[in-house]
Amino acid sequence: MLAHARISLDALRHNLSRVRQLADGARVMSVIKANAYGHGLPETAEALGGSDAFAVANIDEASRLRSHFPDKKIVILQGVISQEALSLACKLNLDVVIHHEQQLLLLQQAKLSEALSVWLKVDTGMHRLGLPAEQLAAAIDRLQGCSNELNISLMSHFANADDQSDPLTEQQFGMFEQLTGQYNYSKSIANSAGILAKQDYHLDWVRPGIMLYGVNPFTDGMPSELQLQPVMTLTATIIAIQHFSKGDRIGYGGTWTCPEDMPVAVIAIGYGDGYPRHAQSGTPVLINGTPCPLVGRVSMDMICVDIRQAASARVGDPVVLWGEGLPIEVVAEHSNTIAYELLCKITGRVQREYS
Ligand SMILES: *Cc1c(COP(=O)(O)O)cnc(C)c1O
Repeated sequence: MLAHARISLDALRHNLSRVRQLADGARVMSVIKANAYGHGLPETAEALGGSDAFAVANIDEASRLRSHFPDKKIVILQGVISQEALSLACKLNLDVVIHHEQQLLLLQQAKLSEALSVWLKVDTGMHRLGLPAEQLAAAIDRLQGCSNELNISLMSHFANADDQSDPLTEQQFGMFEQLTGQYNYSKSIANSAGILAKQDYHLDWVRPGIMLYGVNPFTDGMPSELQLQPVMTLTATIIAIQHFSKGDRIGYGGTWTCPEDMPVAVIAIGYGDGYPRHAQSGTPVLINGTPCPLVGRVSMDMICVDIRQAASARVGDPVVLWGEGLPIEVVAEHSNTIAYELLCKITGRVQREYS
């Protein structure tokens, strides 16, 4: 009675075509780090095979991906921090991001066997990775003068594009334009929220992540508003129907009290599967199409649900935790987190099925 994550490959393809439609003319670097946001490699990557490139976080993810896709352009978003990793990246024809002086030195000191594609990353206000703005021009000079053959592109990253009222996004974009305008290299700044926020941000390469998985990247809003289709539907099974009395307290800590005599369904999914422990009482699940509220704390292997509105529910019935008919955004909000985290945290116990 395992929990299942159904992954719709059609929805993935639809969302990629939505990116193409929005960012007409830009090339698409599909971000499939963290096991494709929990959706699983290589199936997800296969469905997104129409992308111009893939991006992952580190060299381990990149080399695994390379074994499945011998010819695809693959970008390592964190770049590398050792000479061995740099040689390996070069040998496997992986693009590296250069975001720090140390990586520049590594590249200048390396004797690479082949040409290498590098993405020089400048910090325009995210303040995580990236060269300080005032070092960008000198860094480009150094790359141009490097004895290794390099294909150079330029990038930056938005800090808060998911909040459309934050002027920082436009400021970051303005700064990026100003810093890079004089160079003829390919440029990239837009994540999903940036792609959806403004056409100007698309530049030469867009870098969609979360929207490919059918999630609305903005702090409020549902995927349907953006014509995105949810990719993952998480389901589990009812393993018991209980009848409790008025005043009975449910589960660990007894945090929820029955207001009347009532039926409660026990469903075989919990934080051991990646269902969020912080989902509050009232978080909806779907039983035979009817939204029913979670009651009490989430356990490792089980949750309890008030089924007063779904009296026909039976042991063995499937329950949707998120996905088709129940946007993951709603569950994230009730759990005080974001859909990104919910998707990434699906554990190995959940069986993925692709259709
Ligand atoms: C993860 C990531 C993305 C994708 O972000 P989404 O918000 O999921 O679209 C794009 N660029 C970089 C550098 C990233 O790390």
